[in-house]
Amino acid sequence: MLTYLKANGVLFCLKDHPNMAKPKQQVPERTRPAFHRISPVNINGAPGQRLMIVLRTRGCEYAAKNDGGCTVCGFANHALPGIGDQGILDQLTWALEELPLDGVDEIDLLTLGSFLNENEIAAPVRAELLGMIAGLGGVRRVSFESRSEYVTAAKLNQSRAILGDRTVEFGIGLESADDHVRNHIIRKGLTRERFERVVATLAQTGLDLLVYLLIKPPHLGEAQAIADAVASVAYVAEVAARHGVRARMALEPVFVAPNTYLERVFQRGEYRLVNLWSVVEVILKTHALGNIFVGLSDEDLARNRTTGSCPACQDRLVAEIERFNHTLDVSRLRELDCPCRATYLADRESGRI
Ligand code: SF4
Ligand SMILES: [Zn+2]
Repeated sequence: MLTYLKANGVLFCLKDHPNMAKPKQQVPERTRPAFHRISPVNINGAPGQRLMIVLRTRGCEYAAKNDGGCTVCGFANHALPGIGDQGILDQLTWALEELPLDGVDEIDLLTLGSFLNENEIAAPVRAELLGMIAGLGGVRRVSFESRSEYVTAAKLNQSRAILGDRTVEFGIGLESADDHVRNHIIRKGLTRERFERVVATLAQTGLDLLVYLLIKPPHLGEAQAIADAVASVAYVAEVAARHGVRARMALEPVFVAPNTYLERVFQRGEYRLVNLWSVVEVILKTHALGNIFVGLSDEDLARNRTTGSCPACQDRLVAEIERFNHTLDVSRLRELDCPCRATYLADRESGRI
């Protein structure tokens, strides 16, 4: 006989969810975080472990008001318009109780839009989420992210006050330093002037900067994508130095998320996934410009439509990139090789990819 349990207004079948009998696990599947991942990271020179959590929210207001928003973003696939404040808080409660947090030094608290937009995360919920993280002993760095229009010194000061003397990092998707790529291809709706104003506000409030940059947005070939990513890292490093703000750049190889403009382009055969050798090259060309890491997560959205190379070297390249994220040491990346690399270089040179 099936047993049913009602939690948070949702009826569960305990046959399907045998663990639901334990009170601390009474969070319905639909209100667990959209995505979570523990992976290696380097925190201010020391190797550590990062827990990334993407909380389900009602979704990105910019996307709702701008015809789906950014052309590569698949976060709308996870949005729950009726999630409510408690539903958001329950997700972090579940994560902090159920995930193996021993050894986690950093928590990246992401949402399906902007953490600082109070139409997406109400101000008291924001404070409560940060307060829950502030109660964790071993966490040395906390990141959250938002579009620029919701950033105020008051909100940043409040988060810093809640999180105490940890490193607090504000994340923003710049995607590319190139205005055409950012605002016409990605449709980010973000000027460099506004980005630089955010960096100035971080300088004023003592937060660090985390900037997301894409590797291979649509309509760029491999060589153009490498040049775009390198120029973007150089730009962010210069702006951060000018304002005296400590910065990290998260380089994100583009993956194809469902129900996006990019998916339509990909299905028409007009987009090729970035080759992992390009990702390696971007690391080699930018690691001396600033503090970079490569985000290899696809937030469970890519269905294998993500960066790759050949079956013989793919796992090795991914492992070495993860290792770089941990150590910031590029020596082993320089030594990598595979027969597929010569083909990749020839195709890149000729403009075929
Ligand atoms: S990338 Fe960010 S701003 Fe753009 S649509 Fe997605 S959540 Fe919204
Ligand atoms: Zn290979």
